[in-house]
Order: sequence, then C-alpha cells, then structure tokens
Amino acid sequence: MLTVSRSGLPGLKTDAAARNSGWKDWTLWTALAFGTLPDLASFGVYFVQRIVSGNFTPGKPDLTEIPQYVFTAYDVSHSLVVAAAAGILIGVFARRCLLPYLAWPLHILCDIPTHSADFFATPVFWPVSQWHFDGWAFSAYPLLIVGYWGGIALLFAWRMLYPPVRDRIRRKRETHHA
Ligand SMILES: [Zn+2]
Repeated sequence: MLTVSRSGLPGLKTDAAARNSGWKDWTLWTALAFGTLPDLASFGVYFVQRIVSGNFTPGKPDLTEIPQYVFTAYDVSHSLVVAAAAGILIGVFARRCLLPYLAWPLHILCDIPTHSADFFATPVFWPVSQWHFDGWAFSAYPLLIVGYWGGIALLFAWRMLYPPVRDRIRRKRETHHA
C-alpha cells in the first residue's frame, strides 16, 4: 500500500494533488487488494472454511490438518512466475493497475526470507522449480517482527514527514531567490 500506490511513496515524486489524495486514492485500495491476494487466496479461504465448518481453533494449525488445496493455492499465489504472467496481462489490458499490482510481487519478496522450510516456504519459481529459500520464520525469531514493522513505520514516517519538510525548504529557497 505504502510503496506501490499513488498516495504512497511513489506519490512523493509527483505533484501535491496526488500526494494529498490520501484515503480517496483508488490505487491505495487496489494495492491493498493485490498485497493481500496471495494470503487471502490460500490461508484466507482455509480460514473461512474452518469458521464455516465450526472447526476453528486459534493459532497456527498443524501441517497435517491443512488440506492439500491450501498448499496448491499457496504455490500458485506465491510464485513470481505466476505473478509476472499476471503482471504482463495487467500491463496489456489494465495499465492503470500496474503500480498497485506491484504489491503482489512485493508480498512474495517479503515472504521469501520470512518463511522457513518447516511451514510454507515460498515457492518463488513454481511451477518451473520447487526451489525455495529456507528463511527465518517470525515464529522462530520474534525480533524479526520488530524489524519488519519498524521498517514499515520508518517508510510511513518518511511518507508523512518528507513532503512538508521538502516544501518548506523549497519555499525558503524561493524567497531567497526573489
Ligand atoms: Zn504470503
């Protein structure tokens, strides 16, 4: 959302109107949809299924309990090959959606280092290759969560604080030149 919408970081490069459109910016919500798509299409479906069937227990489910379709959906939605193919289609048929679409491959890139081989390692090159990176899971390394959200907070702070500071510097420069 923050990195691939018009009112997010890319908006910093463009004019003030794009920067200030904020919550009304449709690319922000499209980015949210693309960014959550990989997990909604796999875990989300399973989550709803468990609630509907009355089998819901909080916490991480046991790998043996998870139905095969969740793994298949995870493979498809977490493959850069699939995401790239979708990106080409979007580029051809819905160019306007290309910037927020980037939230999808970005989600995959974020999942690569944070999923270990024990639990849903990210199959980046599926179906070409089953190769996956044996990463550092949040559950095994809680400090990662701090780093992860800290990074997001920093980006967010940059997005919020940079424009007013830049505008002030610009104004100062203009009055000096006048
Ligand atoms: Zn994911």
